[in-house]
Amino acid sequence: MQWRVPLFDPDLGEAEKQAVTSVICSKWLTMGDRTAELETRFAAFLGSRHAVALNSCTAALHLALLGVGVEPGDDVVCPSLTFVATANAIRYCGAQPVFADVASLDNWNVSRATLEAVVTPQTKALIVVHYAGFPCDMPAIMTFAQSRGLAVVEDSAHAPGACLDGKAAGTWGDCGCFSFFSNKNMTTGEGGMLLTDQDAVAERIIRLRSHGMTTLTLDRYKGHAFSYDVLDLGYNYRMGELNAALGLAQLAQLTIRNQQRRLCVERYWQHLFAIPALSMPFQQAPGQSAYHLMPVLLPPGCERQRVMATMQAAGVQTSIHYRPIDTFTAYVEAGLGPGQHLVHTHEIGKRALTLPLYPSMSPKQIDYVCRVLREALDETRVA
Ligand SMILES: *Cc1c(COP(=O)(O)O)cnc(C)c1O
Repeated sequence: MQWRVPLFDPDLGEAEKQAVTSVICSKWLTMGDRTAELETRFAAFLGSRHAVALNSCTAALHLALLGVGVEPGDDVVCPSLTFVATANAIRYCGAQPVFADVASLDNWNVSRATLEAVVTPQTKALIVVHYAGFPCDMPAIMTFAQSRGLAVVEDSAHAPGACLDGKAAGTWGDCGCFSFFSNKNMTTGEGGMLLTDQDAVAERIIRLRSHGMTTLTLDRYKGHAFSYDVLDLGYNYRMGELNAALGLAQLAQLTIRNQQRRLCVERYWQHLFAIPALSMPFQQAPGQSAYHLMPVLLPPGCERQRVMATMQAAGVQTSIHYRPIDTFTAYVEAGLGPGQHLVHTHEIGKRALTLPLYPSMSPKQIDYVCRVLREALDETRVA
């Protein structure tokens, strides 16, 4: 399928080519100087004491939960309107996900009220997701978490560079987890980053990243160490140097690319206002978004599959973010769904549509997508 407008289009150019080539010439392919530099730069960019590079955001979520002490038998609250990795990470720890609804049909983030409604005496931690890049209400959520002694992990996969009250998304809670998967705001192909201000948590996570070992291959190569001990049941969640080199090139462009995304979303909003049947979440959202996704809410009863098929026939790729996790077979079979209390989540799950969004999108392409969407809605006679 040759899309006239794809859902996303990663910006990879000369800087990325050179970065990758220089790693190949150096012959050091994993967890070396580039990984260390990406950690330093990412921590400085977002204002965090520690940044730990990993091979995915899923790994970051898993280690963040272990880092804050989540154990088998604990409950961890998270949204159901998110990528399945958010809840899977809880289950990797032997803990149980408890799903919180999102705030409203306008605000697709969890809120203090929706979290509080489902917290149990077994709850050890909360995972919040900054949906589409729009920051959750972190001041209220942190006040609530502190009053109950709950740890907070931010799934910031959509939100590198987002901030609220001058503080970056991913630096409010105990840990912030970022994704550098191919379709995210900055990419390393596969990759992730974990932020924390807590020295003890960082130390544990750094060890768990590499099998629980006390020294790295690089330290031994440099003659800093001869042997190692294993202190924890760790994992291989390391980042490769090729990925880190890509990440350095991408991080250098992130601010400008997020601004380009913002202009795209604003143009979308201007056009889509004119379609009364449609609504767009987050238009009144406080703070600065990273504008990862362009979600719209289709009218009730709209045949979403037909709208998507019509748009596909016109060369426009769309997607659905997200089918609620509590409706997936594996979650229903595990007794974790479907959750009757997830009223807004399930409504959004039926009516959400994600439109194309990427920094290099032209105004013409946005205008075209809006026209095609309007025609698709007309065709299903709901506009
Ligand atoms: C992409 C994504 C993840 C997983 O990221 P990976 O780097 O692919 O593991 C987790 N949570 C959310 C909300 C995501 O969008």
